[in-house]
Amino acid sequence: MKDLRERLERIFGSVSSDVEPHAFDMTENPPRRPACVVRATRASQVPELLRLASERRVPVTPKVTGQNVGGLAIPAEGGIVLDLSGLDAVEIDPVHMVAWIEPGVSWQGLKEEAGKHGLTLGFPLAPPDASVLACALVDGLGTRSLAHGSYGDWVQGVEACLADGTRVVTGSAAVSGRPLSRGPLPDLTGIFLNWFGTTGVVLRLAFTLWPARRFRRRSAIPCSRAEDGIALMRALAPTGLFDDLGGLGWPAAKWALGVEELGPRDPAEPELYVIADYGADTEAEMEVRAARLAELAPSPPLPVEDLLRLAPDLAPFAEMPTRLGFLLDHEGGGLTWVGAYGPLDRMAEGARRGIGMMEEAGRPPLVVTRPMRAGHFGILRFISRFDRGSEAETAAVRDLNRRLGRMLLDCGYVPYKCPATLLPDVMERLDPGFREVMERVRRALDPHGILNPDRWRPPEDRPASSPRARGGGGGSDAGG
Ligand SMILES: Cc1cc2nc3c(=O)[nH]c(=O)nc-3n(C[C@H](O)[C@H](O)[C@H](O)COP(=O)(O)OP(=O)(O)OC[C@H]3O[C@@H](n4cnc5c(N)ncnc54)[C@H](O)[C@@H]3O)c2cc1C
Repeated sequence: MKDLRERLERIFGSVSSDVEPHAFDMTENPPRRPACVVRATRASQVPELLRLASERRVPVTPKVTGQNVGGLAIPAEGGIVLDLSGLDAVEIDPVHMVAWIEPGVSWQGLKEEAGKHGLTLGFPLAPPDASVLACALVDGLGTRSLAHGSYGDWVQGVEACLADGTRVVTGSAAVSGRPLSRGPLPDLTGIFLNWFGTTGVVLRLAFTLWPARRFRRRSAIPCSRAEDGIALMRALAPTGLFDDLGGLGWPAAKWALGVEELGPRDPAEPELYVIADYGADTEAEMEVRAARLAELAPSPPLPVEDLLRLAPDLAPFAEMPTRLGFLLDHEGGGLTWVGAYGPLDRMAEGARRGIGMMEEAGRPPLVVTRPMRAGHFGILRFISRFDRGSEAETAAVRDLNRRLGRMLLDCGYVPYKCPATLLPDVMERLDPGFREVMERVRRALDPHGILNPDRWRPPEDRPASSPRARGGGGGSDAGG
């Protein structure tokens, strides 16, 4: 280890032993202690590190801010955390509305850079400092996912580094240097999407931007039952008039207004708030959209400006990106969720069953849902705040998440950012050929199993040569 440390110091200038903050995240996933942390300040350090780690069979976990809410950046025990937050260059092609971004580029940072060119993006509910590149790699979602799909669909190519230091560019940029589309070449970009850093470290990613419209409006429609809100979103999704339609469960509204102790919902209170977001360059186009919304909504849509006059406490959440303090800064500190992409025709059933399961477990039933890509599919997400200091509560939340995940799988939904807790259930249902090809791709790209080795691989599947399979580390997968 001493010699390894010296070589790491030669590459990075310094090596940190302050591993504790990297051993865990905000979720219920068990902590794992890495041996050290290195911070990249130049992309050229990454291939040097990966070659060294492959030679020594030491696990490497790439990480930016670790706010994925799925335990995905909790490192392998005894490995190296590769902190990529220092690589934060942005290069925008305003004509083709695409940005080459490095891992450390944040939502706030990209918003500001894109704004200089009259462009914008869609935002997750993630904190403003979280990584755009990492969110795209894990196929996240945000405002504009109704119009343009999950963030994986917004990626037009990557520049990545494999475990042996090989550099690869994918998409049209592989031929022309211009990152305009994933094709018309074989889609090697997919080898890095949804793999959680197990196939390579992405150094740059081509992220799609969109024209900023002259007018923009967000309106809230309170719906007395989740089913009504979901029916409204399903009716509006295919019209093509809206950038985003999102359903937010009542506990979020209460927490955002500062109510800490939530009892059962008053039956007179809305169960779901649908937020409709749309924009246009002319007032006439805006009116068409507003009229269609008013026609289908069960109650008059309330523009966010009017809502803020009634409830000024909501002001911090009106502009995106925003920091949802009510989820992040509460006393117990824990935040977790189960989220899955799946069919709209079972969304109402999944929402109702999930709400019931959360209520039964004594948790505020916070559901967040949205149709995506014009309604070709949608997301259901169940969010829990919890006390990370309490072992009993942590275990209860883990158990609830696993049951919610199984219920979602039964409804035809596929967990996104698949956490370790749900891995066995997903693997069990996975097409055997798919599983086999996944394993072959991994072995081909990372023969020594050094790249984020605990992700996407139940312990029994780890190859004999991988550091952890050889007993290189302790720790255990949650529920695995
Ligand atoms: C309150 C809250 C709300 C949120 N709401 C949303 C939401 O609405 N929609 C949404 O999609 N997300 C949401 N998120 C999740 C999150 O913010 C995103 O997933 C985030 O942008 C990812 O950035 P990160 O810095 O947290 O990535 P990290 O957690 O550091 O990394 C995520 C994963 O990517 C891997 N990785 C990181 N960098 C690289 C790289 N260069 N190459 C290869 N692999 C890499 C890591 O190993 C890890 O597996 C929310 C988070 C919070 C806390």
